[in-house]
Amino acid sequence: MQTLVVDHPLVAHKLTALRDSRTDTPVFRRLADELVTLLAYEATRHIRVEPVTVPTPVVPQAPGVRLSRPLPLVVPVLRAGVGMLDGMTRLLPSADVGFVGMARDEQTLVASTYAERLPADLSGREVFVLDPMLATGGTLEAAIRMLVFRGATSVTAICLLAAPEGIARIEAAFPGDSPAAIRVVTAAVDRELNDQGYIVPGLGDAGDRLFGAI
Ligand code: URA
Repeated sequence: MQTLVVDHPLVAHKLTALRDSRTDTPVFRRLADELVTLLAYEATRHIRVEPVTVPTPVVPQAPGVRLSRPLPLVVPVLRAGVGMLDGMTRLLPSADVGFVGMARDEQTLVASTYAERLPADLSGREVFVLDPMLATGGTLEAAIRMLVFRGATSVTAICLLAAPEGIARIEAAFPGDSPAAIRVVTAAVDRELNDQGYIVPGLGDAGDRLFGAI
């Protein structure tokens, strides 16, 4: 498992504004959207492309590339991951989109699946999972297992923030000899989790801040 912390002043600037408890929901949504696009730029650095030629106004054939087939799959983890979808598809408009709904029990912190809409066969596809907070890692581990079970061999999780505990859990779940290449791309790795499973210093409940506390 590889972890990439995107080191860029604009990423740090937007993340700081997301952390700020005075940032209201409309601004939080816009910032999260912009931050995902910046993270997605790095997360797609190794995306597979194939050579093509195109006519230009000057020559009949110029060499270029296009995304390889099958096209990538983007999977937001409901609910908070939905707030990252537009920022991702802005960069990858031709990607297919699947959905996984997972909720964690606030007492036990164990994740359970309540919705799933994914292609049956993911062999040969690059998959990008959108989950804003990599906290205990339970939700992300379950989501990645679901994708690997369907044949995915390349899964990149894009997270706004991560905790060391969550990264350690994903590393342990998908060690180097695992059949699938797993990567986590995030804006920062924070200090720790608190007793309630929140990332510290963190940004609070990402779902509530994106969509309201319902
Ligand atoms: N989920 C959140 O929304 N925030 C955290 O800090 C941890 C998990």
